[in-house]
Amino acid sequence: MPSANTSNHQPVNQANNWQGLIETYRPYLPVSATTPVVTLLEGNTPLIPVPAISEQIGRGVKVYAKYDGLNPTGSFKDRGMTMAISKAKEAGAEAVVCASTGNTSAAAAAYARRAGMPAFVVIPDGYVALGKLAQALLYGAEVIAIEGNFDDALDIVRSLAKNYPVTLVNSVNPYRLEGQKTAAFEIIDVLGNAPDWLCIPVGNAGNITAYWMGFCEYHQAKKSDRLPKMMGFQAAGASPLISGKPVSQPDTIATAIRIGNPANWQKAIAVRDASKGEFNAVTDDEILDAYRLLASAEGIFCEPASAASVAGLLKVKDRVPQNATIVCVLTGNGLKDPTSAIEYSVNQVKTVKHDLETVAKAMGF
Ligand SMILES: *Cc1c(COP(=O)(O)O)cnc(C)c1O
Repeated sequence: MPSANTSNHQPVNQANNWQGLIETYRPYLPVSATTPVVTLLEGNTPLIPVPAISEQIGRGVKVYAKYDGLNPTGSFKDRGMTMAISKAKEAGAEAVVCASTGNTSAAAAAYARRAGMPAFVVIPDGYVALGKLAQALLYGAEVIAIEGNFDDALDIVRSLAKNYPVTLVNSVNPYRLEGQKTAAFEIIDVLGNAPDWLCIPVGNAGNITAYWMGFCEYHQAKKSDRLPKMMGFQAAGASPLISGKPVSQPDTIATAIRIGNPANWQKAIAVRDASKGEFNAVTDDEILDAYRLLASAEGIFCEPASAASVAGLLKVKDRVPQNATIVCVLTGNGLKDPTSAIEYSVNQVKTVKHDLETVAKAMGF
């Protein structure tokens, strides 16, 4: 029997036998025995207790971070991309294309190249974090920067996919959401039930839609006996879902959610209403406070956009029910954006003369 892997290697034993999210959640995913599984063993990311944040809320509330920055390319986009690229390969696609604020391009590039396909990525010039750009280049994607924002880039790749032999792997590709919903499964597999609230950054609104799909499917399968309130947070300068109208010049330091016209707008509204959840905006200052708090008090380095979930939770903390269990999704790894880390850290390097006394003094001894 040939293995389901695209290579001829038999899967090797991983710690706790993890074979990637397609193998783990196969009955819940639109794959068949003949789908070529393109995987980097993504998923199975830790659900980390964040006691300093729990303490700021008090009243017996327990907060966890779903740290999806520990995926193979450093963001949750890998969950969608293992599915999208496997299905593209199954369909005989010649190449894939995406518009990206950075993480989608890194994931698309990695998975497409692993599947032996060319990847084309279209990015807004000057607004992609350094680490993400570095990844797309080294993985071997064709990177095309346009003058314009993410929304303009998405318009272009949508037309490209209609007119040329390339498959679109943005979150308008339904397989992306199928893969991404597995993060909700993992949370329930760990907690034994759904949380009371799920706090999540929202850009194009694919991920919030996918999580809700996952929570609903597991609820239906009796793996949980409740559904969470979906609490979506946008950056104040890019918050069309809060203002109710597209933002033509989205502006925020959280470049991964610098999106003015979310592709999954209607789905996001449906999720909010069905879950009795809320959308709220957080300012860049609030995002940066949460970003520094996560790193310095919890030891978790996420990218600025990811910190919007924690910033949002802290903003509405007075409304958190007593003893609630809350999961904040940390969508991407802090190493993606070293420029922001250095620029917005209060802590800075002290340069001193190289002698014992001076160094000890600089340490406060
Ligand atoms: C893509 C991304 C988001 C936004 O997810 P959507 O599905 O577009 O709402 C948030 N944070 C990070 C780090 C991302 O890469």
